[in-house]
Order: sequence, then C-alpha cells, then structure tokens
Amino acid sequence: MKIMSINAGSSSLKFSLFDMTTEEVLISGLFERIGIEASCYTLKYKGDKIKVETDLPDHSVAVKILLEKLIELEVISTLEEIEGVGHRIVHGGDKYTESVMVTDEVVDDIIRFSDFAPLHNPAHAICIKAFREVLPKTPMVVVFDTAFHQTIEKSRFLYPVPYSWYENYHVRKYGAHGTSHRYIATKVAEELGRDDLSIISCHLGNGGSITAIKNGKCVDTSMGFTPHAGIMMGTRSGDIDVSIVPYVMEKEGKSASEIMNDLNKKSGFLGISELSSDSRDIEDGIKEGNEKCILAEEMFVNSVVKYIAQYYVLLGKVDAICFTAGIGENSVDARLEIVEKLACLGIKLDIEKNNVRGKFAKISSDDSTVEMYVVPTNEELMIAKDTMDIINK
Ligand code: AMP
Repeated sequence: MKIMSINAGSSSLKFSLFDMTTEEVLISGLFERIGIEASCYTLKYKGDKIKVETDLPDHSVAVKILLEKLIELEVISTLEEIEGVGHRIVHGGDKYTESVMVTDEVVDDIIRFSDFAPLHNPAHAICIKAFREVLPKTPMVVVFDTAFHQTIEKSRFLYPVPYSWYENYHVRKYGAHGTSHRYIATKVAEELGRDDLSIISCHLGNGGSITAIKNGKCVDTSMGFTPHAGIMMGTRSGDIDVSIVPYVMEKEGKSASEIMNDLNKKSGFLGISELSSDSRDIEDGIKEGNEKCILAEEMFVNSVVKYIAQYYVLLGKVDAICFTAGIGENSVDARLEIVEKLACLGIKLDIEKNNVRGKFAKISSDDSTVEMYVVPTNEELMIAKDTMDIINK
C-alpha cells in the first residue's frame, strides 16, 4: 500500500511517499518558494537528489508537477497506486482529538481555526483542495498537531485569566509538535515492549517543546496557546512575563505585532547570543569562549531542565526521558549539560553511549533512576500510519 505524507506551509510543500508494507520512503521532496519568484523543487529518489528551478505560481501547480514526476520516474505507474494522502495540520482547535478523514466540513474547520495558526492553516486548506482536484477519488486524512494534547485536563490547559476569555475566545493551552511526541511515545513503547510507560518527551529543534506522557496519552506540554510558550528556542523566547510586552512597546514605540515579531524571530538563541539561532553555531561560539553563546546555552539548558523537573513530579514515576529533533538527536553536549542538572534525581548519562547522533539509542547509565533514549522523530511516518489505519477501518 502506497501512502503519501504531506506537510504544507504557506510557500512550501514537503512530501514523502511510503510503501507501508516495509515503511520505506520510496521518494521524498520539497517544493519551495511557491507563489514567490525563484521557486524550485528538490526530489530525493534512489540515493539521488534532483533539483529543478521552475515556476510554481500556486500549490495546485506544485501538486500536478509532483504527481507527473512520480509517473515519469516510474515510482508509480498510475495515480490509483497512491491509496491515500495524509496531511499534517498545525491546528485543530479543541474540536479534533484524533486524525480524521477529509470532508468539506473538516476543510471548513481548518480554515475556521486559522486565527490560531494564521501562517499554516490557510496553506493546509489550499493544499488539500489542490490534492482533491487532482486525486478526486483518493481517500485523504488530516493529522492534527494539536490533537495529541487534547487529553490534557482542564486545570492544566486553562490559563488563570478571566474565564470568559476561554468561553468567548477559546483562550487555552493547545500545544504543538503533537505528531512528533506521539511518534516518540509509540516508538519507545514498541522498543520496550510496554504500553504503560510514563515518558518525558523532549522535542528540541529550532522550535522545541517538552511533553509529559502517561500510558500513551499526553498529560501536559510546554507549548501553550501558541507555539511561542515553553522552553527557550532558536528564535523564540519561550515563557516570559507578559508585562514585558507593553513595557518594551512603550520604550521602543513599537506595535504589539512588532514586539511579537521580536519575541518570535529575534529572541531565543539568536536574541541572547546576538550571533545565530542555530545551536551548532552556539556550540562553536562556546568553544571559542564567546560569553554570550555560553550564556545562551546555559539559559536553554535551564529552561529544559525546569520542564523536565516539573513533569518528573507530575508523572510521579518516570520510565523514560527521550530526546528528539535536531538538537535532541544530535547534540551530545546539550544532552550532557541537561542531564548533569538532573543529578539530584539520580538521573545519569552513560558518557560513552551518549556519544550518538541521529539513531535510536539508550544513553542512560545502568544505575540511572530513569532510562534515557535518543529517538529520531518521524512525523511523516506517523502521518502515513494514521492515514493507512483510517482508510483501512
Ligand atoms: P530541527 O528544527 O529539528 O530541524 O532542528 C534544528 C536545530 O537542530 C538547529 O538548532 C540545529 O543547530 C540543531 N542541530 C542539527 N544538527 C545538529 C548537530 N549535529 N549538533 C548540534 N545541533 C544540531
């Protein structure tokens, strides 16, 4: 069974075509700068990387080219071979608690929830429409990044603000990276042969979030009403005192949206280091003795440790702490610095085993009170699996 997994942004379209019998990626690719000049696409197929510069005026054109290429490269012989398409959706509001089949109502809801994800949801809707035009008979599924967090109980998802904000405007915690955290929980349960695990899943990438998971269900997560909240990130501040916003607005004569832009795009690693949002540059800076890089890394580690400690208490007994995404999977140093600060809980790394990048590995020492794992995330596979399961139901 061949299933296509789609992740569309406002000007991009990322895809992977899976053979679900082996869970192998047959071909993957990225269409970039859709609707902008100098658009192009890249395909990864049989070890080769093909890059083509071409006009991509909208998502429909990208979808048509993508499907033509699959036939031209003989990945498929007819479009009917694609038995399902799964779309990643950033925001499903508080309506969607799991992945669902695409209907007109679902598309309308995705558009309706655009208030919560103005850059993403409209693009998802456009992309779904483009696929439905070209593949009218192919079943399609949507996988919401917020759905996994819908099991958080009310006393944790509400903010202590006037209750009417929740009733009138749906102000509450929604979380993000749900598809990644769900993949981590599923993968670790599979690897350990148990589904009654309490897990702290640390998705540490350019964006980052930490999630407490019990028996496969989300109990709490660090991101909030938007993906701005929680730990310090590449360019996002994470949690701050909200009073800073009007204070700096007045000092710098900026509008709310300008300050939000500073907090979203000019903060985090970039804001503190004044050098880069990329943790590799920060690590290089640390080696050269750059004080601001040292400070940025320490602040990042502190913010991660704060959430791990909080969720350790919340879960009561933790079976596994998992590290995933760019930093979590690859930064030996960041993992070391984080775990050093957890020593008072008897949580210890095996220094040798921690020297691993981008593959599933146990990294805790034998006498650690909690097991720790590096778990490469695979949101695309999770989307494809949901799509297959729903179609087969
Ligand atoms: P992501 O958003 O998951 O793609 O993660 C991006 C982040 O992962 C960036 O901050 C990268 O610097 C970081 N990253 C990727 N590879 C490495 C690596 N080998 N060592 C340290 N950080 C890395």
